[in-house]
Amino acid sequence: MQARLSAALRDVTADPLQMTSPNLRVCAKGRNDVTQKAHGRNLEDRDPESAEKQTTKRAKRKAKKPCGRKQKPKTPESSGDLVAELPFAKAEVWKDLGFPSSESLKKKRKRGERVESEEDADKKKKKDCQRANYFVSVPITSSQIKSGVEAVQAAVLQKDPRLSRALIAPGSLHVTLLVTHLSNEDEVNLAAAALVQTQPRLQELLEGGELVLPFSGIWHFRHEVVFAQLAEGEHAAKLMKIAEAVRKTFEEKGIAAGDGKDFKPHLTFMKLSRAPKLRRQGIKKLDPELYAEFIEHQFGDETVSRIDLCSMLKKKTPDGYYHCEKSVTFRARCDARTVTAALRSQRRSIQTRLDQIKELLSQPSTRTKIKQELAAAPRPFLKPSSPSQ
Ligand code: AMP
Repeated sequence: MQARLSAALRDVTADPLQMTSPNLRVCAKGRNDVTQKAHGRNLEDRDPESAEKQTTKRAKRKAKKPCGRKQKPKTPESSGDLVAELPFAKAEVWKDLGFPSSESLKKKRKRGERVESEEDADKKKKKDCQRANYFVSVPITSSQIKSGVEAVQAAVLQKDPRLSRALIAPGSLHVTLLVTHLSNEDEVNLAAAALVQTQPRLQELLEGGELVLPFSGIWHFRHEVVFAQLAEGEHAAKLMKIAEAVRKTFEEKGIAAGDGKDFKPHLTFMKLSRAPKLRRQGIKKLDPELYAEFIEHQFGDETVSRIDLCSMLKKKTPDGYYHCEKSVTFRARCDARTVTAALRSQRRSIQTRLDQIKELLSQPSTRTKIKQELAAAPRPFLKPSSPSQ
């Protein structure tokens, strides 16, 4: 009896896990694709909201669609189902005969799935370990720079409203000095201490004066990141030295800093990595036509008064800036030399503004607009000229 039953059932139960494995493979492949895409993306493109949204969306997608089952509907070939359909599937004789019950088959399948998930989770964990989640930032506080950036962004949006997600909010504008990965509170504290420790060296580099960063013109990294350029000059060399000093102090404390990219100080105001959806819509590059009329725009000066250790992933502050773990501030010496330098810097910034206004007024389109508005405006204050005058 046992032998006959065994023979009759051998076909349907032959290597049940192997029979279900194509489903598992599809499932694993789907998951790997998602993981690979996530790593292709640059997480340190510090947008906690978009990073969190993506993670939540992915989680929801996974929860909604158990991929194996969805992609391959149940068929009678599925051994687990066949076993479950047998009239004595739940009978004790099933176990007595040495075959797995339908429940244990399900359990086995789940165990198989879990192995895949753990492998994926391990890979993901390893990558997460390397991924930058903190950065040292020079915040942009100049309202002139912010309004210049907003003007460019408005022009970009007029040309392509879909790009709104790729824009950096004025409150988040910053210059990155370095990026790093800090995996726990102790490491964050260590990095914060390192930043504080660099302060005297930074003060020394500034020679008691101010560091004024003039931004002019627009450039890009691979047409994916668009930024205001830092003008060349002594200030750029000083900023490089500051970044270098911070990096060194971090490394002395055992904190690896940098992402393998050369330090090219820049002020990002638009980047595709903020909006992965755009890539899926086929927008893979940011066309320079989008900002052509601002290509040589003078954005203005930022006087560096602070550098921050910021989190890429923690919730931003209400003004749109990043969560700061530590900040160090610079004090300029208040002597005649520095006052003169400050006045000179202010004069330069006013001059830049004046030049922009002059440039605007010299454009024929602006002149036509002004003429039209003047012609249309009521003039109660203008008395009709009398012949005697
Ligand atoms: P950030 O302005 O720091 O938000 O950086 C914007 C993007 O520019 C990030 O994806 C950086 O990885 C990228 N980036 C920074 N420096 C460079 C560089 N020297 N070459 C190419 N890409 C860079």
